[in-house]
Amino acid sequence: MSNLLNSKNRRLDGRKLDELRPIKMEVGVIDNANGSSYIEFGRNKIIAAIYGPKDVHPKHKTKTESAIIKCRYHMTPFSTGTRKNPAPSRRETEISKIIREALEPAIVLTDYPRTAIHVYIEVLQSDGGSRCAGVTAASLALADAGINMRDLTAGCAAGKINGKVALDLDEVEDMEGDADLPLAILPNLEKVTLLQLDGDFSRKEFIEAFKLAKEGCLKVYDMQRNALKDKYFGSKDA
Ligand code: ADP
Repeated sequence: MSNLLNSKNRRLDGRKLDELRPIKMEVGVIDNANGSSYIEFGRNKIIAAIYGPKDVHPKHKTKTESAIIKCRYHMTPFSTGTRKNPAPSRRETEISKIIREALEPAIVLTDYPRTAIHVYIEVLQSDGGSRCAGVTAASLALADAGINMRDLTAGCAAGKINGKVALDLDEVEDMEGDADLPLAILPNLEKVTLLQLDGDFSRKEFIEAFKLAKEGCLKVYDMQRNALKDKYFGSKDA
């Protein structure tokens, strides 16, 4: 097992166990889309963009009472240390599905019958935790597109490194660590819409990691609100 913690419980990048990486969020970065956002979550750099509500193709997928959400999470070939195959991978198909499921409960789908809302997530640079950063960016982009929503979806992971529960693992910690637990929540509705687990936790560790990831999501949620206020009111304090 690699040594990911020093004697003072500091991580390789100097963070404490309960510390997030530096985060930046911006809303309305792509003029041609109906809504968009850009997020930096540590070294992750991700753009999310929305088209729609639009006509559904193929037509037989139309839902008469509600909108359908189409979601694509994609890593650019230059997003990883070695060139990533540009063809869609099983991992990207899985992440597209779980991000769609994490977003849907926040959207008032019945306000847009017979339409499709397209969510595109482009990972420009990845460094672990990109599904959580991706869902966070996508939710901001939906709000920017003016889609009626009950809440924002905020994502953040926690994990276990060198036997200790830690917030927001980067790629090295994810690869060399013991476990990773990506979480997304609807903070106001108090709902979990994404919960995965890769690795092993005891029951006690799982509860600790869940609480830590939830605290991370709440901090992310505050930043999402500030990013929206910044664009629409020109101030974080509005
Ligand atoms: P997440 O990004 O949500 O943590 P994973 O746990 O599957 O998703 O991946 C962890 C990290 O591994 C990614 O953020 C990325 O930096 C890296 N990674 C994923 N897929 C590839 C790939 N095909 N080639 C190189 N690096 C990858």
